[in-house]
Amino acid sequence: MSDTPRRPETIAVTAGRPPHEPGAPLNQPVAFTSTFVQGGDPVYARYGNPTWSAFEEALGALEGGDCIAFSSGMAAVSAVMAQVPHGGAVVVARHTYQHALLLLDEGAASGRFEVRRVDITDGDAVEAALPGAALLWLESPTNPALEVADIPRLTAAARAAGVQSVVDNTFATPLLQRPLELGADIVVHSATKLIAGHSDVVLGAVVTGAPEAAERIRHHRGLHGAIPGPMEVFLALRGLRTLSVRLERAASNARELARRLADAPGVVEVRDPGLSTVLALVLADAAAADRVVERVRLWIPATSLGGVESTLERRRRWPTEAPTIPEGLLRLSVGIEHVDDLAEDLLQALGE
Ligand SMILES: *Cc1c(COP(=O)(O)O)cnc(C)c1O
Repeated sequence: MSDTPRRPETIAVTAGRPPHEPGAPLNQPVAFTSTFVQGGDPVYARYGNPTWSAFEEALGALEGGDCIAFSSGMAAVSAVMAQVPHGGAVVVARHTYQHALLLLDEGAASGRFEVRRVDITDGDAVEAALPGAALLWLESPTNPALEVADIPRLTAAARAAGVQSVVDNTFATPLLQRPLELGADIVVHSATKLIAGHSDVVLGAVVTGAPEAAERIRHHRGLHGAIPGPMEVFLALRGLRTLSVRLERAASNARELARRLADAPGVVEVRDPGLSTVLALVLADAAAADRVVERVRLWIPATSLGGVESTLERRRRWPTEAPTIPEGLLRLSVGIEHVDDLAEDLLQALGE
């Protein structure tokens, strides 16, 4: 082991492994146990598990903070939102992940939260909404509008206003964006997506550089019990090992598809912030978008994103999706197939 700082691609491969000792396994085994022999730590498997620790060490090292794994991305989101005092105000991007918004809206209906929706591309509007708030909730790029926030500016403004800032980093991953370095207090992940990367796991995580926040969130997990299964965490860590190569291929496919689709028949707009493997393709209306979903043969019509296989869906098919998202918007999660096959399939689906 050396103390030389390592680059993120190397950390993704090396962090969270057992020590290099003769006879040691290279991977942290899956610990299927509900309890532990008295006298050590952890004491019970709702508070800790060595397989969780390996994953938490790796993702924490990549994001630059203390990581707490959860049973899903929404469990991680809920644990962070639970830190807001009763009646506290949350400033949130209007195009945040729809179930994070639903959680806030349902809380607002019962007086639990005050919700202030903002356009995160409008820095002045976000700053104007901060005074007196408890939390600034950012997602960048946003799902599925793919807007990008000026994270350093907004987190600095939040800090100056005494507001905690959170970034949902699911779309960019720590290989493309490290929000804690950009001034955020807390990062949340749906590790279900790019981190696990194979559409076979549901898992979430919170990462923070603030020890007292980590303590409170870990305590919340133990108390509310939204703990991950050891097998899911093992699979997510295995996925994380190859994140850099999957991301490299999928991102280059995404950039190339954005170029080739820009003047394809029926395409009104291609949105590609260049910070993820997700694209948005805006067609004239719902019928035009539905037609593409029916006609694709390689692309899989499915919700979720970040797997090795390419998927697409028309987001407004969900009644809970924001009405400001165009009816004809298709969200494309670009995988690692050959880009020519991906392009040909979309072009035939868009054609006559
Ligand atoms: C999917 C997703 C979530 C929720 O994660 P789950 O693992 O499905 O609970 C939160 N934020 C974003 C940006 C997502 O894409």
